[in-house]
Amino acid sequence: MAFLQRTRSNGELRVQDAGQQVVLNGWAHKVRDLGSLIFVDLRDRTGIVQVFIDPAKFQLDLRSETCLSVSGTVRERTPETKNSKIPTGEIEVVAETVEVLGESKPLPFPVSDEEQMANVNEELRIKHRYLDLRRPTMYRRLAVRASIIRRIRAYLDARQFVETETPIITKSTPEGARDYLVAYRLEPGKWYALPQSPQQYKQLLMVSGLERYYQIAKCFRDESQRADRQPEFTQLDLEMSFVTQEDVLQIAEGLLTDMINGVVAEFGLEKEPVETFPRFTYDESMRRFGCDKPDIRFGLELFDITDIARGCEFGVFKSTAERGGFIRGVRYPGGAGLSRKQVGELEEFSKEFGAKGMASLGIENGALKGSIGKFFTEEEQSKIMAASQAEEGDLLLFIADDYNAGNNVLYRLRLEVGDRCGLRDPRVLKFCWVLDFPLVEWNADENRWDAVHHPFTGPKDEDIHFIDEGHPEKVRADCYDVVCNGLEMASGSIRIHRADIQAKIFSLLGIDAATQQERFGHILEAFSYGAPPHGGIAPGIDRLVMVLTDTENIREVIAFPKIGGGYDPLMDAPSTVDEAQWKELGLKLK
Ligand code: ASP
Repeated sequence: MAFLQRTRSNGELRVQDAGQQVVLNGWAHKVRDLGSLIFVDLRDRTGIVQVFIDPAKFQLDLRSETCLSVSGTVRERTPETKNSKIPTGEIEVVAETVEVLGESKPLPFPVSDEEQMANVNEELRIKHRYLDLRRPTMYRRLAVRASIIRRIRAYLDARQFVETETPIITKSTPEGARDYLVAYRLEPGKWYALPQSPQQYKQLLMVSGLERYYQIAKCFRDESQRADRQPEFTQLDLEMSFVTQEDVLQIAEGLLTDMINGVVAEFGLEKEPVETFPRFTYDESMRRFGCDKPDIRFGLELFDITDIARGCEFGVFKSTAERGGFIRGVRYPGGAGLSRKQVGELEEFSKEFGAKGMASLGIENGALKGSIGKFFTEEEQSKIMAASQAEEGDLLLFIADDYNAGNNVLYRLRLEVGDRCGLRDPRVLKFCWVLDFPLVEWNADENRWDAVHHPFTGPKDEDIHFIDEGHPEKVRADCYDVVCNGLEMASGSIRIHRADIQAKIFSLLGIDAATQQERFGHILEAFSYGAPPHGGIAPGIDRLVMVLTDTENIREVIAFPKIGGGYDPLMDAPSTVDEAQWKELGLKLK
């Protein structure tokens, strides 16, 4: 049956429209039944407008979230009933007809009440995601997401990139996670894997001569879930031929800057414009910030007093320095006034991340104050103050440990101090590049070398000799990450494009010749038909939306996410299947 279709959007009506005859469609956001008067806030995706219903004229029992078509006349509200909080607050629509398009059962949660929604169980929200997404905040996140993708396409299309789809049911492409497998009906015992990324396909497209490729790509990784992870997530996947690292950096930085500044302006987001990305080498980032994803919205860089500590009287510092460890620290501006309890909290925090202990010293009257202060001579004290750039009233926090273990605590401690001092301003988006990652790292559990990025990352030409010399840990890769506010936003590299070097790296990673042929024979063969030098990068779309919408949970920026353990409460997936389907796939449950 035909219904009265809207002539105007709810959110756009203003006082200039007074006297106009309109038809509106939408949902009853809030219903206020005052007996002799009924007010309905009618919502569509553009906003809310107040509809006045005279109960004497209509036989209605309106629940929230009923879907309606209303026709009526726009009228200016009396001065005392105007609402300056909403853009349509100067007017209301006096209903002449009200048509119920879809009735609503009692709701599982109060869709229209943002404050209460903050306390609703997440599983319940996702089970009724279609209702959850009716909330303007959720709609806005999806709209920001769509704008990001639209702008990415526009930027790359204008630069002769060719958007190309690659298969979802395919062979395993390792990115360091477990694969999702799909059974193959025609030959029981054989499996497809869902791609952890389109990495191999995009490289094959470079061998094909596509030269510039991109795709808004779904990636599938069966790994433990965290606030910023989902079993399936979206990347902008990009690859270019005949390029150096510098070319990829320029394209990616130009794209991200342009896109983000565009989205910020379009939605009026409270963000300062994104500026040029500073560059850090991996070593520099580890030294200055303790991690490869530095938050550079604030300073408080780590400082090192290992050399000073070597000669000091404080046993823990001295012995750590003597056995080749490090004594490094973070400055807490104005922290000398913290209570014992507050300092204790910081120590507990450090221990959570593996610290054996945390020492601290305040700066009072130009000298180091604290239980360990007495172990340092005057000269050592002034050297410590210089190394840490300490000022009167600061507190210095020290961790004495191996470089890596110490960094793992210190980088978090620095962020914690940044948070406590209000230095991590959400209005500021500070992007940077981290370059020259090591190619491999030692996996002590498995007793083998693992790729730091993935096995297709190119080693720096000048470092390849370290492999034959038995020092693969010294090999740097032509590999780069984009980081924003302490979050990894993108990873990429210049790739290996020679079959002999690719085979050498596979061997280094403990993949023997037979396995190389079985798993990667296709790419080794492709590289033997005139493969061009190539490289690329893949920014995570979900994380970009998170950063732009100030969301800390990836599930909030995905229309239909999974909850912990990869469960989808809306579709009830994963779920059991008929025994007949098992049989057809040649499978039996053990
Ligand atoms: N495939 C890589 C990843 O998912 C990105 C890249 O190297 O382009 O991290």
